[in-house]
Amino acid sequence: MCGFVGIVATTDVAPEIHVALQALQHRGQDCAGIATMLADGREFFAHRGLGQVPQAFACDELATWVGPIGIGHVRYPTIGRGLLRDAQPFFFRQPGVLMAHNGNVTNYHELRDSLRERSIHLLSQCDVEPVMCEFADALNLARRCGHTIDDAMYALREVRRRVRGSYSIVTALLLDGQPTLVVLRDPNGIRPAVLGRRGSGNELAWICASETVALDALGFDRVEEPEPGEVLFLRAGAQPIRRAIDRGERSPCVFEHIYFARPDSTIDDRGIYQSRLALGRALGERVAAKGIRGDVVVPVPDTARPAAAALAEQLGLPLREGFIKNRYSGRTFIMPDALSRVSALRLKLNPLRTEIAGRRVLLVDDSIVRGTTLKRVNALLREAGACEVHLAIHAPPVLHPCFYGIDMSTEEELFARRFSGDLDALERQAAASLEVESLTYLPVEAMDRALPGPRCAACFDGRYPQAVAGGDRQAIVADRRGRDAS
Ligand code: SF4
Repeated sequence: MCGFVGIVATTDVAPEIHVALQALQHRGQDCAGIATMLADGREFFAHRGLGQVPQAFACDELATWVGPIGIGHVRYPTIGRGLLRDAQPFFFRQPGVLMAHNGNVTNYHELRDSLRERSIHLLSQCDVEPVMCEFADALNLARRCGHTIDDAMYALREVRRRVRGSYSIVTALLLDGQPTLVVLRDPNGIRPAVLGRRGSGNELAWICASETVALDALGFDRVEEPEPGEVLFLRAGAQPIRRAIDRGERSPCVFEHIYFARPDSTIDDRGIYQSRLALGRALGERVAAKGIRGDVVVPVPDTARPAAAALAEQLGLPLREGFIKNRYSGRTFIMPDALSRVSALRLKLNPLRTEIAGRRVLLVDDSIVRGTTLKRVNALLREAGACEVHLAIHAPPVLHPCFYGIDMSTEEELFARRFSGDLDALERQAAASLEVESLTYLPVEAMDRALPGPRCAACFDGRYPQAVAGGDRQAIVADRRGRDAS
């Protein structure tokens, strides 16, 4: 998972990109980068740093950057490592191209080898670098310099032909002699992207970002989400130029609604907070149908809070904070190795004994991927005096890995895959494994009723909107294993 932003305006954009990246920080904490281009395309500024946005940039340096067009990125690695050389945006010297993306290029290794055969070598293990090289190579084939929108379309069609996987890509370059932001979504629109505008006339500025929170932070109005397979060419003071490459079945990632996106964002015309309330209500119905009784509803902070509130309302139970989260520690799921996940949790959640001791706790969480975090959370509740712990999850069992930009484990790491039988049987085995009195998942059908509309839910139902070739799968899995081992 990563977050990107691109802005084209009539003023210097680096400080605004810095703000937008802080709004998108939850999407990646390993590294951050900002790059800008002068209006005449003759000079570029770029900095990439490790850690969160405030650590990655020195503000006095940022103040010296100029350029009315630029892109920014926060990274959590799904291909490659959390190393500085893998940080985005990437820059291609001839012609000057800046590029960043959110997603996962599933045929990264094939692209790398193909580029090598053309004597184009990569400097990183980040999957957007070969995409940028393919784009720039095709652009140079179309014309050596003075590129036009038609040249860019030719190059993007080449990208589309060669690159498999999910991607929302933002690129900055000079087209028709003008600084132009180019946005491309994969044919299924799996990863989010949203377009926003601010001002009017010659002052009209455009932004494209992973989530609407970046628009809110900068006073941009949300316009729309680019369509799957759509290309947008954005210039300050002008209306977007729209082109399409090809379009598959619209399949936006449902996990954005369950866990990844901020609750104050809007994706697929649906508020994430509203989505989580709907999931909580649906979960409450199933908990009631199973006859599970609790004294108090406790969310695992922070993602599960809206769903826990809706579930508590549904069941007529009090909602209480059972844990106080140390806001200065890292997000556990997003930390790249198992060791840092365990140690971060000890620092992160402190149980509130007054709300827990002597009570039957109905603990609500968003999902179970590996199960290690919840085992520890249950232990914390017991230490704090909970007499029963009933776990309620506002997502179905995660049974399949994600190949589209979420680092969701290899098959053998997935908690729910250890168990068998129908959902009831799986829940009983999972509850025993986590040592809780009961465990309730949200069935896939209930999730679909709560969040109607097209979606990718492949990690739950195994129906991948884009086939992932066996060789590509093996390469991604090997990369993940290597990262966890390193
Ligand atoms: S497989 Fe799951 S996490 Fe990956 S894109 Fe689909 S819904 Fe999202």
